[in-house]
Amino acid sequence: MNTAELQQAFEEIFGKEADATFFSPGRINLIGEHTDYNGGHVFPAAITLGTYGAARKREDNVLRFYSANFEELGIIEVNLESLVYDKADNWTNYAKGVLKYLQEAGHMIDTGLDVFVYGNIPNGSGLSSSASLELLIGIIAEELFDLDLTRLDLVKIGKQTENQFIGVNSGIMDQFAIGMGADQRAIYLDTNTLEYELVPLDLGNHVIVIMNTNKRRELADSKYNERRAECEKAVEELNAVLNIQTLGELDAQTFDEYSYLIQDENRIKRARHAVWENQRTLQARQALEAGDLQQFGRLVNASHVSLEHDYEVTGLELDTLAHTAWQQEGVLGARMTGAGFGGCGIAIVEKDKVDAFTKNVGKTYTDIVGYAPSFYIAEIAAGSRVLSRK
Ligand code: ADP
Ligand code: MG
Repeated sequence: MNTAELQQAFEEIFGKEADATFFSPGRINLIGEHTDYNGGHVFPAAITLGTYGAARKREDNVLRFYSANFEELGIIEVNLESLVYDKADNWTNYAKGVLKYLQEAGHMIDTGLDVFVYGNIPNGSGLSSSASLELLIGIIAEELFDLDLTRLDLVKIGKQTENQFIGVNSGIMDQFAIGMGADQRAIYLDTNTLEYELVPLDLGNHVIVIMNTNKRRELADSKYNERRAECEKAVEELNAVLNIQTLGELDAQTFDEYSYLIQDENRIKRARHAVWENQRTLQARQALEAGDLQQFGRLVNASHVSLEHDYEVTGLELDTLAHTAWQQEGVLGARMTGAGFGGCGIAIVEKDKVDAFTKNVGKTYTDIVGYAPSFYIAEIAAGSRVLSRK
């Protein structure tokens, strides 16, 4: 959607001109999966798929929201004075959460808003449409109420909304990648210290293909919380001798030497993933900076193997995509991305092999799983931003 289309859509719904238009990206994660809540490193990037917005300040205390992705819900109306979670308010709970926590942090939001939203990120597919929406609302408020906020403030408010308002216990990666993304850069982030670096993502003659399983998401949230609990318990057991806050503090050798302290095979596997994945992320960044794309690709593959066998968050659909991708010509590496159990994978594919790649992987996947996957080329883009002002 361009700004003219956004303006037009806004006017059709709300009958007035919008004050400004906005865009907030989705994200992929190159490597470093399930490490963000384990105090490790992640390596995500913002993409050109994302959520568009147009908004106008009102003179009363009414918040009116419309999403072109949920046309059937029409305009959802909420009052600025009752920013509490209500299932009936559907997707606008994300917006309510962001506004509530902005207010709680002392930011003056003193009138209502009309907000139009349209996104082209498939919802629930692991490209983080929810964090994209949170940051979109964040920058709308920042712009229209002229708030004094750093980008990190908005990132944290997005996470707080996800954790406390929506009730998903996710780490900071998604909001960080979406808020801080930069054109043609991946974000190497230490989730423990929040130190980060924007690393040029030079893949030579390769592109990143997003592979969507199109699997309905189920179990993901409960399994996610289960994995978190398993890792926390492993930290507790290791702390019979060690003194660590998170698994991200351990290198692979130290972990091996003390893994005898963990009393359960599954917890050993979960912790092993968290520790090794963090090390792989470090190495992947070095490989990328050294221009060693082959090694980068192998580390991406290794991440999938570990998520499949140690962390056990993949399943038939994601495994079929990754395993089939590995067999195709011109593929540097492939793995699941996001929380797992469905959602998307990524593959790094030679540009002129992409057509053959999607055809072959699409066919094998359909034969095995029974329905077709979708493919998109991921273009790396800048973070959440204002597109136009009146
Ligand atoms: P993911 O973040 O992996 O895409 P989530 O389940 O965390 O999946 O978030 C998806 C939810 O976010 C949707 O069900 C909806 O409530 C909200 N959402 C995302 N994008 C939009 C949009 N364009 N319009 C309205 N709501 C949206
Ligand atoms: Mg989400």
